Amino acid sequence: MLRSLAMFFTRGNLFRSLLMLILAAHVFYMYCLARTWGGEIGFHAGQTVIAAGFGLIMLVPLLWAVTVPDWPEIYTRNIRDRRRYQRSRCTACDYDLRGIKETGETICAECGTPIAEPVPYQFTFGIFKKFILINLLAWIIGASSGEMWVFTDEVAFQREVFEANTNEEKAYFRERRWPAVGSLYWTKSLGFYTRSSE
Ligand SMILES: [Zn+2]
Repeated sequence: MLRSLAMFFTRGNLFRSLLMLILAAHVFYMYCLARTWGGEIGFHAGQTVIAAGFGLIMLVPLLWAVTVPDWPEIYTRNIRDRRRYQRSRCTACDYDLRGIKETGETICAECGTPIAEPVPYQFTFGIFKKFILINLLAWIIGASSGEMWVFTDEVAFQREVFEANTNEEKAYFRERRWPAVGSLYWTKSLGFYTRSSE
């Protein structure tokens, strides 16, 4: 368990996790904007579907970034390893191989990696799958946290009004919590309602 956990924390996976969190933040923001379009307070399936759909659609413009999850590997393979090879160093451990190559040695004396020109990084279907998975995770995390964010804000407003003296003929209103837009209202005659920003 610990070992597989340690194996997960490679530079590439940390980079991809960070990328996923950035995309989740993007979905979260879009979800919060779209969640208030329905003009209703509380959880409504229709509103959620629209907001989650909007969050998904707003991921599409980022499709160009399909190779981004593999940037660490692309860098390693195409830039770092190539540079090491040209300087007569081991592509894996950077061990100085000058003088060793001439002796007909075929593997690195330090780590045993074969001495060969690095194979360029190739685009495979695997990276496409990885990209879809990252986006899917980002979408699920972004949309569900967006729903929680907006919903708990509405609940908080309702509590604020109940805690105040609601018998008075007084209107309550305040802005929704960022990044959601619009305001929340309560009046004695109309009850709770919401309006998108004027
Ligand atoms: Zn080596």
